[in-house]
Amino acid sequence: MTNPALPSGYDVVVLGGGVAGCVLAARLSEDPGRSVCLVEAGPDYGPRQQDWPRKVLNARALPRDDVWERHTAFYRIRARVLGGSSCINGAWNTWGSHADHAEWTRAGGDRWSAAALEPYRLKAVERMGLRTPPDDELSAWASAALVAARELGHQEVDMGACGLPGYGRPLINAVDGLRFNAAFAYLDPATRSRPNLTILGGALVDRLDVRAGRVHGARVVLDGERTTLTAGTYVLASGTFGSPAVLLRSGVGPAGDLKENGIHCEVELPGVGANLSDQPGVFMPLSPTAGLNAALAAKEADGKLYVSRMLVRAASEYCPDGAWDLHLLPTAGPPLFGSLPPGEYEAGISAFLMKPLSRGHVRLRSADPLEPPEIDPAFLTDPDGRDVAVLRSGLEKAQALAGAMRALAAPADGAPPHALSDAELRGRVGTYWHPVGTCAMGPAGDPRAVVDGQGAVHGVENLRIADASVLPTVPAANTQLPVLAAAEMLADALRA
Ligand SMILES: Cc1cc2nc3c(=O)[nH]c(=O)nc-3n(C[C@H](O)[C@H](O)[C@H](O)COP(=O)(O)OP(=O)(O)OC[C@H]3O[C@@H](n4cnc5c(N)ncnc54)[C@H](O)[C@@H]3O)c2cc1C
Repeated sequence: MTNPALPSGYDVVVLGGGVAGCVLAARLSEDPGRSVCLVEAGPDYGPRQQDWPRKVLNARALPRDDVWERHTAFYRIRARVLGGSSCINGAWNTWGSHADHAEWTRAGGDRWSAAALEPYRLKAVERMGLRTPPDDELSAWASAALVAARELGHQEVDMGACGLPGYGRPLINAVDGLRFNAAFAYLDPATRSRPNLTILGGALVDRLDVRAGRVHGARVVLDGERTTLTAGTYVLASGTFGSPAVLLRSGVGPAGDLKENGIHCEVELPGVGANLSDQPGVFMPLSPTAGLNAALAAKEADGKLYVSRMLVRAASEYCPDGAWDLHLLPTAGPPLFGSLPPGEYEAGISAFLMKPLSRGHVRLRSADPLEPPEIDPAFLTDPDGRDVAVLRSGLEKAQALAGAMRALAAPADGAPPHALSDAELRGRVGTYWHPVGTCAMGPAGDPRAVVDGQGAVHGVENLRIADASVLPTVPAANTQLPVLAAAEMLADALRA
């Protein structure tokens, strides 16, 4: 039921204007009788592409300007801008397996099944303008990888839907090389013109005022001034690193950690900041032939060089039937880190571990909202070493794919990555940037659970969370489309 508008407040305040926050603000403000305020720490560049910095829009690179921390460990990179990480990400979209949905329904109920989420997935696909990239957006490397995957016996599959292992083209939210982010998709001029929607850019959420199991206000630093926003319902959407940090500063979390930071424990929830799960990967570099370099240079000259447009969902021997636990990602183009002389490119195949067992954490270093939290993804640390074994299996499969593409790139010098020692593999590990799980959903009796299947925070009456942090396990997918669909569903649950 809709709360009456408060004279000095809103019906709903959405805290964090990223992928999920944009969905929530747009959907919740569809009812003109509900006043909604969206609060984002980073800038709001507005609804028109021409007003955005070109660098942020460039879908051929991963921009690093509007981020929380510069010059930091790669796995800490996250956006600080209206539109969130959809403004700095790879702009491609895939969906997970039935095994992922089985995990989510066990934690959150039937609304998390593949069938129940399907209408929300379709809504997100439409609103984000997702499309399958045509042949002329494929580099010679991506085209060769499609052929090689077929020759190796993989099936062609729809990457944007729940299905089977196989190869295919992820759906893209970019047109003419420009990234179409969640702010464009959900906060278009018509949505922004709603009198019941307020958008605050440059507004840092410090903490929530939690007393007696209720939120009484959101303390925000807006244009350098401290202010308190009040609402009937508060929805956290500050992402996998931001949402637990806000909760912890608000006194909701593990009592011991709160005490260490001098924060009074209002609601003890040991799961806040625990259970961090991200997908590690290792890049297998190859040496492009002169022919491949020339083909990539010609594409770049045409303005159509995309680093990748295809991937393979593969299954290790540890994976349940019908699912996959690996992505093999062939890439070719300017290097992600560093640079090469003109006319030379980096080519290779990454293997990503999609269903890691290892779990890390997000913890506060202090109660100061300006101090970034401690983030430890704990890659490849599960006690039985299964994550390393699956990753090694992925690198063997990547090696086989590379073998089928050797006319375009030769093996690089040195031992192939799958033959490296465990310690060497750990030293080369990167991330797919899909962290989840730090405010995981689960039943109230589960000490690790932070929210229920509707995103309602256990023990706090009028507080919900609706971003990537609620997913208890990472899907065998890139997370943008699953987070968009989950936010669509959780917005509906809030309206019901
Ligand atoms: C470099 C990179 C590449 C990626 N590539 C892909 C890809 O190609 N495909 C894919 O599917 N996924 C990709 N992802 C993941 C995808 O972008 C995320 O899963 C998705 O953005 C998560 O949405 P979210 O709403 O949970 O968080 P976000 O989109 O990160 O939004 C969180 C928002 O909250 C704001 N916020 C945080 N704390 C506060 C605070 N205290 N006060 C106010 N505002 C706050 C942030 O500034 C941000 O705007 C990538 C991510 C990164 C970082």
